[in-house]
Amino acid sequence: MLTSKGRVVVIGAGFGGIAAALRMRARGYDVTLLDRLAKIGGRAQVFKRGGFKHDAGPTVITAPFLFDELFSLFGEKREDYVEFRSLDPWYRFYFHTGEQFDYRPSVEDTNAEIRRFSADDVAGYARLLRTSKAIFEIGFEKLADKPFSKFTAMLAQIPSLLKLQSYLSVAGIVNRYIKHPLLRQAFSIHPLLVGGNPFSTTSIYALIHYLERRWGVFFAMGGTGHLVAELDALLRRSGVNIILKTDIASIDIKNDQAVGVTTTDGTYFPADRVICNGDPPTVYKQMMPAAHATRKRLMPESLTQYSMGLYVLFFGTKKTYDDIAHHTIWMGPRYKELLADIFNRKILADDFSLYLHRPTATDKSFAPDGCDSFYVLCPVPNLRADIDWTETGPLLQQRIIDALSDTILPNLNEVIVDPFYMTPEDFKKDYRSMHGAGFSIAPIFLQSAWFRFHNRDPHISNLYFAAAGAHPGAGIPGVLCSAKVVENLIIEDEEKLAITAA
Ligand SMILES: Cc1cc2nc3c(=O)[nH]c(=O)nc-3n(C[C@H](O)[C@H](O)[C@H](O)COP(=O)(O)OP(=O)(O)OC[C@H]3O[C@@H](n4cnc5c(N)ncnc54)[C@H](O)[C@@H]3O)c2cc1C
Repeated sequence: MLTSKGRVVVIGAGFGGIAAALRMRARGYDVTLLDRLAKIGGRAQVFKRGGFKHDAGPTVITAPFLFDELFSLFGEKREDYVEFRSLDPWYRFYFHTGEQFDYRPSVEDTNAEIRRFSADDVAGYARLLRTSKAIFEIGFEKLADKPFSKFTAMLAQIPSLLKLQSYLSVAGIVNRYIKHPLLRQAFSIHPLLVGGNPFSTTSIYALIHYLERRWGVFFAMGGTGHLVAELDALLRRSGVNIILKTDIASIDIKNDQAVGVTTTDGTYFPADRVICNGDPPTVYKQMMPAAHATRKRLMPESLTQYSMGLYVLFFGTKKTYDDIAHHTIWMGPRYKELLADIFNRKILADDFSLYLHRPTATDKSFAPDGCDSFYVLCPVPNLRADIDWTETGPLLQQRIIDALSDTILPNLNEVIVDPFYMTPEDFKKDYRSMHGAGFSIAPIFLQSAWFRFHNRDPHISNLYFAAAGAHPGAGIPGVLCSAKVVENLIIEDEEKLAITAA
């Protein structure tokens, strides 16, 4: 039995909250993990309807060692509980021209695909991968799990960040090396997976190219929901106290220290340390005394840029579409201008680009025999736009079904089963996401590293953030690293306490 070092309350059981809870428990704290939803997992909820299963959020697993670490904290092995299966292709792009491009696990196979579009871009892709590796060596290996609480930490990294040209965008870097217009799209979409416009996301995120090559792209068999269920079991085995359907109304502060949290029904949980996994802008605006809300970052709310919203359409089909890969990116006719509509002009255009998830390509447990399960993700403006989702939701559903019926899912209109969707309003309501953003604040340079929400509040030294809106950022690897940063900060605090006590 571990001797308690004190009480830690974690608000929010997304991957960042789960990882922080496990890390704190392994360090010997009494940990209570609270979430307002009925199940842990945050955005990784699961919907089950009429024999069909749908992961609601993340589906792509990269950097699997970050999950392995969580099991090994307690002497266990992740592979004894969840299989991460490698996919091929990683992603299939379907362009409006009717052409397809498979982005594949081997560089040789990817080169063969590139050659079908533009032989010259094979050498360009090699250069892009080299650049991505250089960025990865700094951006992931040196910075992702280190705190950026002090400006001096940022200053120390300025030479490397300048050398890596972090002030450029991901599209800026990709377009340097890749010339074919469709390949430029395929190789620059990664920021959208973490909520950013490729034309404004700091090029640090170009490291994802190398990160995928280094460890691969996987699917958790049984679904991301199964991975969450196994993490739930690990939390319980390790002695974390999980309390669900509990919404935290406030973090209670006394003398610049967090002393506990209070739920919307008035229940109080005392704490020696509080870790927030909920969206940092929401935490500061709605859960902290007003005096603290304006003290957290340099960037005022009016200048803060949020990630895009997501419209996610879920459905089954009464037949299987065997030619559809596990992950398909369906690109519409416009790219840069469509992104400007979503991120800058904040209008819902008539056209769109889509990500299709067909888990039944890998795992038949998602649908009855002879059927497929799908979700389709459509990036849309967040709630800062003037869109009435009650009216727009059903219309967008039909437009997406028609577009897919006309292209890669013929007759979808006739074989579709039980479609339903989430809009940015649901992200706001279910996850308390500010402006219904899919991925918290956007990953632009002026909202990264020290400029992002800090992992420890600058004024309340026992209040921490392991969340997509905090350093290093969104995406599963990002939030799992965020929990590592919090652990490092708490180790630092423990050492300070030990010195004071000595
Ligand atoms: C549709 C979709 C697809 C994605 N696909 C991928 C992918 O394939 N791969 C990938 O790596 N990433 C993907 N992402 C991004 C990734 O899912 C997220 O960045 C990550 O899961 C966020 O984790 P988090 O730890 O920040 O917590 P979240 O998942 O945001 O969870 C936070 C939790 O805190 C709870 N909470 C908030 N406030 C309170 C409160 N006051 N009281 C109690 N509880 C509270 C919320 O209800 C929620 O359960 C995707 C995201 C979405 C939405």
